[in-house]
Amino acid sequence: MRNGTEAVRLAIIGGGVAGLSSAYYLLQQARIGDRPLHIDIYERKSTLGGNADTVVVDLGNYVDGKGLPHPYVRWADLGVNDVNLATYVKLKAIMEQIGYLEHMKPLQDTTSYFNRSGSLALTDDEALRDGVTNPVFNLADADGGRLAPLISVVHRAALNLLSTITPVYTVAHFFNACVATPGPMLGKAAAQLKIEIDWDDPQLSERVAKVRDDIYYPRIAAMYFTDERGPGVLPLQSPFQYYQLQEGAGAQAQNPDRRYFDHGAQKWLEALSDWLKQQSNEQVSIAIHTDAHMRVQVQRGRVALLGQTIAPADYDFCVLSTHADDTVELLNFDGDMEQWGMKIRAVLTQVTYTRSYAVCHTYTGQLPRNRDIWRTYNVLQRETGDKSFPYRMSYVENLHQNDPLNPQYSRFGLPLFLISLVKSLDEIPAETMLDRVNSTQRVDPAMLAALPRATQRQLHGEALHTGYRGSHDVAHPKLAHKAWTMFKHNVLNAECIAAQEQMAGYNKATGAEIAAGMRPDCALLFGGGWTLGAGLQEQCLQQSELIAGWILPALRGTPIPATRPDQAECATAA
Ligand SMILES: Cc1cc2nc3c(=O)[nH]c(=O)nc-3n(C[C@H](O)[C@H](O)[C@H](O)COP(=O)(O)OP(=O)(O)OC[C@H]3O[C@@H](n4cnc5c(N)ncnc54)[C@H](O)[C@@H]3O)c2cc1C
Repeated sequence: MRNGTEAVRLAIIGGGVAGLSSAYYLLQQARIGDRPLHIDIYERKSTLGGNADTVVVDLGNYVDGKGLPHPYVRWADLGVNDVNLATYVKLKAIMEQIGYLEHMKPLQDTTSYFNRSGSLALTDDEALRDGVTNPVFNLADADGGRLAPLISVVHRAALNLLSTITPVYTVAHFFNACVATPGPMLGKAAAQLKIEIDWDDPQLSERVAKVRDDIYYPRIAAMYFTDERGPGVLPLQSPFQYYQLQEGAGAQAQNPDRRYFDHGAQKWLEALSDWLKQQSNEQVSIAIHTDAHMRVQVQRGRVALLGQTIAPADYDFCVLSTHADDTVELLNFDGDMEQWGMKIRAVLTQVTYTRSYAVCHTYTGQLPRNRDIWRTYNVLQRETGDKSFPYRMSYVENLHQNDPLNPQYSRFGLPLFLISLVKSLDEIPAETMLDRVNSTQRVDPAMLAALPRATQRQLHGEALHTGYRGSHDVAHPKLAHKAWTMFKHNVLNAECIAAQEQMAGYNKATGAEIAAGMRPDCALLFGGGWTLGAGLQEQCLQQSELIAGWILPALRGTPIPATRPDQAECATAA
């Protein structure tokens, strides 16, 4: 550890929202008079943004009033694609500060629940602000108007339980109890919402089962944190904490305020990294390195970083803003630190991952049979006889990007384009997959200038290492030019929640050592989406702010004395 006013050196691994925002909070909170801080952010891909992946697709030509053809070229987000500004308070504050908020546009927040046979066809148009809703399919009118209030009551009842349940209480426990004993399970929530329910109605249990089978199970199964076993086995807290943040209303707001990232989510993270570089100063200097696939050698009280394209360097601390499985791969522990290695790996390997694909296409087989009920989010219900989960979700991109409010696209007859989240690329016919445009020829200059730099570089023909697609191109050589990506996601099961809690305990104990003026033996802190809830961008920011708070005391006052080797004890054991 360095003395006096020599800078504290921090490495952050991962250039997604978690890594960039850790640097942001440190920059925000470091005080004049503290020891200076030097931060190096390392990202293995050629571009920043983590699982944000913005592509451009070509949908043909539209013909104007004079009969002249114009290219109809659109952009789409294959990864992170929307946020709820009513509840993402940290994200909103950062965007305001860096001047990005104006790029967050209101999406059309509508959902369709359907099955292939057509026996389920319901639309949730409650948040529709400009459009037509058909009473035949409108959830608000279903079952004589009795289904929608029941959904609100079930939702509130689940949220009420969140502060008292543990991860062993599953989605199935909750819904099955609601079906078996609706009154005791739902009575309090109904009273809170002032919704009248006829508890003696002989159809009530059947109706609650419909809420479970037609609405919640398909919805939860369509989420990126479920695995093939389906929603029933998930802890109840996993989907409902997610709903609170992603789809809920904030303390002041009456409605959720769901927004998409205009011209792509990657652009916001590029804006954040630009801001970090601009604000970098003598107190907190920040350098960002891409194409930097790093390994971390953990030594007692310090770390050494090694990368093929980067000169080895030593750091006082290292923040891992990478997925748990990548973190296992990149960490190595010196012999005398192996006790820590074993304990940290034991936590990280409790987190399991599944892999899916996001595909941009024009295939309508993933949508309801009835075109009238195509909505922004289209959630496919499992059919009797289907053997595996998850269900499927398709977005109509034109609605997600809210074409009806966008004069440029508000034209009759423009073709729809879709994003589907699927388990296998075979689920979408190859001929309907759209090509990733890799030339600027047909792209309007104004649109080109507004796209993320990473997307612009691809349009200029640069072959970049982006997204998680990587080696999967080799497995699908014929689809290499198509607009799809592979995404992996941690399953939000009880084991993952246990790992999150253990890692929170480790981080806190390390932070306490730093706050006590000690040098922690294991100079690692763990951030990233997997460490908190469903890893929504807001949760990544919450975790990053905590991490900054744990590191900051290292900048204060006198140099940090090293602990004696015999004091070494892995905090994860606590
Ligand atoms: C399909 C999908 C859709 C989602 N949609 C939304 C959404 O709409 N809204 C929302 O709020 N949240 C959404 N989420 C959740 C949230 O966006 C992600 O969890 C979040 O992006 C995670 O950020 P991160 O920085 O932890 O990880 P990532 O964004 O994955 O970044 C980690 C980075 O670490 C890098 N890395 C890994 N190993 C190394 C190494 N050895 N050296 C250097 N770099 C390395 C990776 O290349 C990657 O860039 C979504 C998640 C998924 C999976």
